[in-house]
Amino acid sequence: MDAVSGLAAAKRVVVKVGSALLVGEGGAPNAAWLADFAADAARLRARGQQVLVVSSGAVALGRRRLGFGKRALTLPEKQAAAAAGQSALMRAWEEAFEPHGVVCAQVLLTRDDTEVRRRWLNARATVETLLDNGVIPIVNENDTVVTEEIRYGDNDRLGARVAQLAGADVLVLLSDVDGLYTADPRKDPAARHIPRVGQLTPEIEAMAGGANAEGGVGTGGMATKIAAARIAAAGGCATVITLGARPRPLAAVEAGERATVIEPALTPAAAYKAWIAGSLAPAGSLVVDAGAAAAVRKGKSLLAAGVTRVEGRFDKGDAVVVRDEAGTEIARGLARYDAEDAARICGLKSEAIEAVLGYTSGPLVHADDLALHALP
Ligand code: GLU
Repeated sequence: MDAVSGLAAAKRVVVKVGSALLVGEGGAPNAAWLADFAADAARLRARGQQVLVVSSGAVALGRRRLGFGKRALTLPEKQAAAAAGQSALMRAWEEAFEPHGVVCAQVLLTRDDTEVRRRWLNARATVETLLDNGVIPIVNENDTVVTEEIRYGDNDRLGARVAQLAGADVLVLLSDVDGLYTADPRKDPAARHIPRVGQLTPEIEAMAGGANAEGGVGTGGMATKIAAARIAAAGGCATVITLGARPRPLAAVEAGERATVIEPALTPAAAYKAWIAGSLAPAGSLVVDAGAAAAVRKGKSLLAAGVTRVEGRFDKGDAVVVRDEAGTEIARGLARYDAEDAARICGLKSEAIEAVLGYTSGPLVHADDLALHALP
């Protein structure tokens, strides 16, 4: 994959935009850049691609609104600046996208939203619904409530987590350098640009961690970009690192301007299923009848109607094993109900669930969250 074809073919793209691009000299939003970027993102959307933006800039904009200048801030001051700046940030995004008839929406996440599975599922459902409705989510860390210990730390990593959450194919990190170099290009004239990284080897990590480590303003240098790329790759997502400070950075990548693409080994769907099948300890089992076993084997969702028994204690979002009546494992998946509610609805048709529980979360295990057990 090269950056040009990767971006053109992506179904879902996450673009991380840093404070240095968004906030101009005097601490106000960089409206001209935003307008161009919005036109660029709207162009992708118009040709059927879904776009999510991970946007920094809340603290930088809030500093100005609260008159904090450039001095070091205490944690409560930083949180206050983020609160005052986030609304200004959203206003700037709204104004940029408005001429294109694109609706954007604010999504503020804390680390637990992508690390605690139940919250992860919840955040994912919201993001999916926004994308299904043609909205461009503008994501930032919820800086107003997070403290240093519980932060993502930087928006490169947040971008990678969002890419995983959304099952994106490409994460674009807009940077102040046009990709990865063998050494820091500002200090070493012999530095060579690396257009493509097939795998994140220790050598590549060393390049980013050594001479290139400071290659970036804001919170994240090249080392954090590579760390983000590693997270994205584990989720089956390619990372494109390119220069952000040009009017239409996505169009520039497509026109073949310099960028580095870091390729994943798997597709997002395969990476997700491998995670379900391999990394999670199942908390219970769902025993299914022959009809449901056949449906699951064909890649269909597991409906409550086909479940004959619920075993173990699990919460909504926990991993469960799906077994046939002989006890053979067919698949693993994430339950959409906890064990107690699952037991109450097993054997019921989907239409009957709401009357019993007072709510419905759809199938017991959705096809997207089911990984078939590999036949020996
Ligand atoms: N979330 C921070 C902000 O909006 C920025 C963090 C970062 O850029 O890495 O100000």
